[in-house]
Amino acid sequence: MNMVADRDPQGRTSRAAYAVETMPALRQRMSVAMAIFVFFMGVGTIFEVKNYPERASFSILLYGVEALAAALGIVAGWLPRVREHPKRIAAVTAIVILACINVYHGYVHAEAERLAIVLGCVLNLVSVLLPWGWVAQTVVATGGLASFAVAAPHLVAHEGVAYAALVLAASGTQSICAAFFLDRYRSEAFHRTAMQTKEAAISSALAHVGETLSKHLGEPDILDRVNHLAVDVIRCDFSSVFLFDDKRGVYWLASNVGSSPEVLAELSQLEFPANSLPILRALRPGALIAIDDTNDDSMVPPELSRRLEVASELVAPVARGDRIIGALVIGYRERRGPFSDREQRLTRGIAHTTAITVENGRLIADLQSANRFKSEFVATMSHELRTPLNVIMGYAEMLADGIFHPTEPEWTGTIGRIQEHAVELLELVNATLDMGRLESGRETVEIGNVDLDRLLADLGRELKPLAQPPVTLTFANDVGGGPIRTDRVKLKTILKNLVGNALKFTTAGSVHVAVAAAPDPNGEDELAVFSVCDTGIGIAPEHVSMIFDMFRQVDSSSTRRFSGVGLGLHIARRLVDLLGGTIAVESTPGEGSTFTVAVPLERATAPVDETQMARAAR
Ligand code: ADP
Repeated sequence: MNMVADRDPQGRTSRAAYAVETMPALRQRMSVAMAIFVFFMGVGTIFEVKNYPERASFSILLYGVEALAAALGIVAGWLPRVREHPKRIAAVTAIVILACINVYHGYVHAEAERLAIVLGCVLNLVSVLLPWGWVAQTVVATGGLASFAVAAPHLVAHEGVAYAALVLAASGTQSICAAFFLDRYRSEAFHRTAMQTKEAAISSALAHVGETLSKHLGEPDILDRVNHLAVDVIRCDFSSVFLFDDKRGVYWLASNVGSSPEVLAELSQLEFPANSLPILRALRPGALIAIDDTNDDSMVPPELSRRLEVASELVAPVARGDRIIGALVIGYRERRGPFSDREQRLTRGIAHTTAITVENGRLIADLQSANRFKSEFVATMSHELRTPLNVIMGYAEMLADGIFHPTEPEWTGTIGRIQEHAVELLELVNATLDMGRLESGRETVEIGNVDLDRLLADLGRELKPLAQPPVTLTFANDVGGGPIRTDRVKLKTILKNLVGNALKFTTAGSVHVAVAAAPDPNGEDELAVFSVCDTGIGIAPEHVSMIFDMFRQVDSSSTRRFSGVGLGLHIARRLVDLLGGTIAVESTPGEGSTFTVAVPLERATAPVDETQMARAAR
């Protein structure tokens, strides 16, 4: 695992990029400098021939050599292969010209000071004109000084040759400083521009990704789009999105683009438990893992990488806040070596966008399913409300039509049935209100002292009418001792729902409600374990996991034998959660079911809380 060096958008290092960038400028300016030389040499030759005809042949020769060197410098700037070394061409040409100037001035016994000034001017001219940095300038200045030393014995000096040499050294140093600062300024400007270009390219690529994904939000192939975009903008070989399955604790391949069909077939079969590979254990929100060469990396076994045809890869977590919900993996099948800054930034950015996309997708799916549930709920509720209402209206009409006389036993029976269905209606409305409170989060836990014997007795009294012979309803309290501390209303609602169901789905045999103390397997404390055991129709194993969901019933057809809206167990589970307990069921179809509720058992010292009792009675 590596973090990579800063590179330019094309993948070159920034120094190399600058050198390549300055090469054409260097060649171009070298031509300008040489042209200036050739011009001055022409002017100098005319001046010499006119004023000093006696030494014309020698001066023409030297000016000719200088002009030739300059012209060759220009030509070399265009020759294949040679043109790749513009600094060397420029330096050699400049040294030849400086040497010629020195030789000529030595030959004519010129003034040392004047020569030093001429040389200084030439050095400063090249340092300003050529973008070649202080090293090349130092080489040329040293060459100029050396050839000045060779010419020095033949020069005439008013102030002494040493003085002239000092002037020349000062000009040379000045030219080196100028070359250094100009080069630094140019390179900074280059990097600034390169950086701005890179930032703009990354931002526009990420904007393109965001825009495309937001256009297709909620579509089933959205993750394929993520991968296509990643391959397009990063220009990598493949891209995969793995999602994390919370329940099973495994990463699975949700989508891949770019891998071979064989790899894809293998990947779709694989599941990666969260702690199975070092790379998965190292995944942290915001952190990016770069594997530059899968052959020598300990994060993923090299054998697995070979099978999956991965030579190098970048792994970015797809996270919502602090929670990792998946991973984006981009990479190359053959390219090994460090990843550029651009590749890393884009991968990170696309992973962020993927997180938003996945979450929005989930949200949309949740909303759609909530909407579906709502429609089903309205349909079920209408049906459930209509059934008892129809019965009530039918019986009420019979009474209104005077079919039965108040003295007849049928009159009392009819009134009883009206009452029975009115109670059923009331329970339905109450369950819906309970749900509303739970959904809005308004339900609060009110802990008080609860006498279990009294609670079971109340339940027995209220539910006994539902236990139609030959079904028996029995209760047993094995907790013993005084009251316990819990929320009486919630506990009673939970048990009432469970016992109500047990009686509803049991046509023969018994319903037994028991409570006993048991040690908490996950801690030091005790639990109060309530069990509601019936000998009813039972529940098939494939239905057990869904009966606690809202509006879920084993038989939800319109022709079902048993009434109900599918809210009782959902409400019970939500209330058990509020009490910090657990609910479970064991069942065998045709033999019966046992629902078990375990809540923390805290024994109370004070007497039973009367306000809770009053609330519960309501
Ligand atoms: P309902 O209003 O339908 O009773 P619940 O949420 O209370 O809704 O129960 C959901 C479903 O679970 C029921 O419709 C039934 O299919 C199944 N169920 C619950 N309790 C029992 C039980 N004791 N025996 C058999 N099936 C049960």
